Amino acid sequence: MTVTTRDPLAGASPVIEITGARKTYRTGDIEFEALRGIDCRIFPGEYVAIVGPSGSGKSTLMNILGCLDVLTSGSYILAGEDVSTLDEVALASARNRRIGFVFQQFNLLASLTALGNVELPLIYAGVAPAERRERALAALERVGLGDRWRNHPGQLSGGQQQRVAIARALVTEPAIVLADEPTGNLDSRSTEDVLGMLDDLHGEGRTIVLITHEGDVARRAQTVYNVTDGQFVGAGTEIAK
Ligand code: ADP
Ligand code: MG
Repeated sequence: MTVTTRDPLAGASPVIEITGARKTYRTGDIEFEALRGIDCRIFPGEYVAIVGPSGSGKSTLMNILGCLDVLTSGSYILAGEDVSTLDEVALASARNRRIGFVFQQFNLLASLTALGNVELPLIYAGVAPAERRERALAALERVGLGDRWRNHPGQLSGGQQQRVAIARALVTEPAIVLADEPTGNLDSRSTEDVLGMLDDLHGEGRTIVLITHEGDVARRAQTVYNVTDGQFVGAGTEIAK
């Protein structure tokens, strides 16, 4: 089935274009088709939520979108680059250049300061120390934590830790920010805080793909895709604001 999102920036090319996406896992003789033909186009500046029950294929799709895994068949064009046939090294490079990740568990290194955590993707990208520090500080300021750069994750609240993770996701200027259940480990106040932050980023023109099983969280997005048994059900639903 084909799902075509309306184009918020008429004429713009999609930043994500997935066609006929299938993913089959093999365990011994047993095959399981986790993605069963997904078509999806996401445009620059769009805020998209992908919602579905446990086992529906959300993490599989997230791994594909995030260049952590490849499709069994179908194609994936990310920011104009066909990433469906890349080998592991090239895929890792695409991932580092194009994707900012925000995870449920924050995935911050406890031994590093907030600044050190935000600098990490720039170290991988080979950015020189002075520029690294400047960009990481600017990203922390962007998420309202400019004065907490010396703090280690253990000295920050859950909401603040997730803000550091968002700064880390932004610091490389990625084509998309991919957030997998980013509020799954947060209390309601920190959830509001982090969702407000994602709203702000969307307001600045960032492209956000949010994966969640919570309808309340999904309603913050512009467009919602429902995934069931590895397929999108119905067209992308535009959320009335
Ligand atoms: P969700 O994130 O929506 O809970 P997943 O993408 O993790 O769903 O899983 C979708 C389906 O694929 C599930 O039935 C799961 O058991 C199966 N699956 C996921 N990963 C693997 C794997 N590595 N090997 C075999 N089956 C898998
Ligand atoms: Mg999952």
